[in-house]
Amino acid sequence: MAARSHVSNKSSAQSKDAEKPLDWREILNEEAVWHDYADFVVWFRQVAPVLPVPAEARYSRFCSDLEFIRAQAALIYFDQKPDVTSINKRLKTYALEIDIEATAETRLPSLLAVAKEGDEILDRLFGSLLVGFAQFVADYQNGGPGLCRCEGVFRDARMSEVPLADFEKRYRQELLLLEEKSLLEDPGIQRCADFFVGRTKARFCSDACRFMTFQISKQLKDPSYLAEKQRRYRSKRKDSLE
Ligand SMILES: [Zn+2]
Repeated sequence: MAARSHVSNKSSAQSKDAEKPLDWREILNEEAVWHDYADFVVWFRQVAPVLPVPAEARYSRFCSDLEFIRAQAALIYFDQKPDVTSINKRLKTYALEIDIEATAETRLPSLLAVAKEGDEILDRLFGSLLVGFAQFVADYQNGGPGLCRCEGVFRDARMSEVPLADFEKRYRQELLLLEEKSLLEDPGIQRCADFFVGRTKARFCSDACRFMTFQISKQLKDPSYLAEKQRRYRSKRKDSLE
């Protein structure tokens, strides 16, 4: 996906995901790499090319709604109790309906919040994401799987201009590499924000993310690593040309 600038190749498991309707987890993962409205527009055109792109004000509201889910997800991740009262309060504001027509030829789920007015697809979508997330929370409260977060790191020059959020600092403290290299407060290097459910043994969201993390880690531990690798590559190439 173009918006996901830090990972170029998705694993085959994830390309299979590309055929499924979007869920709350996948959208949180996407939202984490949007810098601004323009990134959102690129993403929206990919997942729903036949629909008009929502206005910027709608997008801003969608992001703050997603922040609510992200904050609850953080509580679960750090083994704290999710705020079920607030989740229930929000659930009561939505009624849902199946609307196949509204989402035809898109990756949006066809179970949406009931339509009230025009240009509101993101609102309708959020109702659906909230219900999906509430199902996950209910299962989790009953002993179901919790959340895992990818342990990958990546560099993104645009992200380095954004100060780190407080809860993000807590996620970063889990990465030994950032701790060892005194990079906990350095937004120039980011922890991959991908959440996945269950799969406790998996540490990375994708092979591409694992590879990038390996490269960055090597480079931080041995700054001459990349230069040496390029030198070896060049001399190998020279050999093969001779
Ligand atoms: Zn990752």
